[in-house]
Amino acid sequence: MDNYKKSWKFGASALLLCFLISLVWCFGVRTPAFSIAVDGSKALVVSDKAVASQAIDQLPDSAMGGKIDINRTFANRRDIVPSDQVLDALATALLPKIQGVSILVDGQPVLYMADKDSAQQLLDRMVQENTTVTGEETLLAAGFSEDIQIVEGNVPTEWISDWDQAWNKINLGTETPEVYIVQEGDSLWGIARANDMYVTDIVTSNNIQEDCVLAPGQTIILSKPAALVTVVAQVEGSENVVIPYQTVTENDNSVDGINIKSEGQNGEKYVAYSATLRNGIIESKTIVEEQIIKAAIDKVVVKGRSVQVASRGKSGASAGTGRLSWPVSGSISQSYGGGHTGLDIAGPTGSAIAAAASGVVTFAGWQGGYGNFVIINHGNGTVTRYAHCSKLLVKNGQRVSQGQTIGLRGSTGRSTGPHLHFEVMVGGSFRNPINYLR
Ligand SMILES: [Zn+2]
Repeated sequence: MDNYKKSWKFGASALLLCFLISLVWCFGVRTPAFSIAVDGSKALVVSDKAVASQAIDQLPDSAMGGKIDINRTFANRRDIVPSDQVLDALATALLPKIQGVSILVDGQPVLYMADKDSAQQLLDRMVQENTTVTGEETLLAAGFSEDIQIVEGNVPTEWISDWDQAWNKINLGTETPEVYIVQEGDSLWGIARANDMYVTDIVTSNNIQEDCVLAPGQTIILSKPAALVTVVAQVEGSENVVIPYQTVTENDNSVDGINIKSEGQNGEKYVAYSATLRNGIIESKTIVEEQIIKAAIDKVVVKGRSVQVASRGKSGASAGTGRLSWPVSGSISQSYGGGHTGLDIAGPTGSAIAAAASGVVTFAGWQGGYGNFVIINHGNGTVTRYAHCSKLLVKNGQRVSQGQTIGLRGSTGRSTGPHLHFEVMVGGSFRNPINYLR
């Protein structure tokens, strides 16, 4: 008797538990809802009938292509379209569709194309264009940093991009970029300036080199690059770089003025590196090996009695004869030309930047893409400019002597790594600094 009672109790509790679980299942996971079907196939699920009817009433006449039915159903809560998105979802469901593919980036559809092959070709081309290496570089690995999927399915016909539209969109984030037709006498720098862009943006958006020759009539895309995907590439390479000589000063009270005891000579070194590129732009560079090919020879200056370093005559003469000294040591990461208005001298953050010649500071502060920026006027129409400083050590109006520390190397403003962007201007136009450095 006892046994019978026990098993009855057990059976009843099990039944109750089952019932409760079903209840939780039905109303916790699946819930009563209304499905809207277009031409007999389920398009979307909404929480109540009023929301559905309202959306249908609000549809523009042009969207009323198919037969719409509303039916009671049970649905997963996460499948129910939020009320404020019902109208858009319904309009989309009513668009005429064809078989196509969507490209998903981290699960989000960003681009629609006619077939799988075109989508795959587009992605392959994106990788290829962003992994071009120079002669001394080897590509080790490349891939997307996002999770990319190509999914086949029915896609609204009007959403499908052709190759050119898709290429613009994946590269620039827009199918219809703003364009400019090159005029006689245009330079990349001038076009960038006129359109409030950086030369590097134009170079990236147009897949061209900074030193390319522009032809009148050529079309230049003015949209800033905003790629929908990120190609990450690992490369290794080597290069020979200049080691700028240092200037050392000796004091000798037996002579007068400043005398150059011996001229300096730049050295050269071989550098092997590995680098990471993000969409073709160097993100980080690690030196793997360094070999001095030719050591730099210090320039030795003897300072005698009654030295007048910062005399007006001297600074003017020194600048006018093209005597600028290297502002900082490092490797030339980018030379002058093709829209690049200065010389990029890369090296550690915090290295002292020296005035290339004596003069007067006419600007010391923040200036947009230049970051912390110093301009020194040396007289005779010669001006030198120092960009991306991590710290400024001079003030506007201050008189500086050649070799005086004016700031520290950094990566402020528009810069992809610590370097000094050094510009030389003569008579108001940019000159190649290398021709003025001694
Ligand atoms: Zn630069």
